[in-house]
Amino acid sequence: MARDTGPQCKQCRREGQKLFLKGERCLTEKCGVERRSYPPGEHGRGRVRASEYRQQLREKQKTRRFYGVLEKQFRSYYEKASRQPGVTGENLLRMLECRFDNVLVRLGFAASRRQARQMINHGHWLINGRRVDIPSYQVRPDDVITIRPESGAADVVRQATELTAVVPPWLQADHDALTAKVLRLPERSEIVAPVSEQLIVELYSK
Ligand code: SF4
Repeated sequence: MARDTGPQCKQCRREGQKLFLKGERCLTEKCGVERRSYPPGEHGRGRVRASEYRQQLREKQKTRRFYGVLEKQFRSYYEKASRQPGVTGENLLRMLECRFDNVLVRLGFAASRRQARQMINHGHWLINGRRVDIPSYQVRPDDVITIRPESGAADVVRQATELTAVVPPWLQADHDALTAKVLRLPERSEIVAPVSEQLIVELYSK
């Protein structure tokens, strides 16, 4: 399975904001954006010409990086979103938000999407009693998420729960039993992500 293994702090610095890709470290003064608030590379501190296209491109890249999705898959999410009824940008964000790896982060069961993906790939999580090892799995209303009995990841998951105080209202989590339920699909207003989805739609519909 293809995945992005590049340096994560560089991604945040490129986008000029914290994307919280590294879990606990992002909350400390070791954060790359806090230490070097300019883009990476030799010309990082040079002047950048602002254009409409650049703005749209950066928004797409930022969203991809935030959710940890590669270009091809992101494009395919967009195409599916544009075929669904409703607002394309919102459909796209909802699909990204309902990825299993993202849901584990929202529930507080993983400190980052990369950590969530690793646990899922290694078969530590069950949905409705069945092992699901696909990070892009789309959760559905009434799905019940549980950690595999005897999973060696339970300690890591408990540590991650300490970083999350609030679980979004479309999800329900039990941090003691390490179980959760998807109550419904999220509304746009419940998706906390640094994303202007309209710019992405404009980019892809050129
Ligand atoms: Fe981004 Fe986290 Fe690195 Fe800060 S520490 S630059 S938020 S990945």
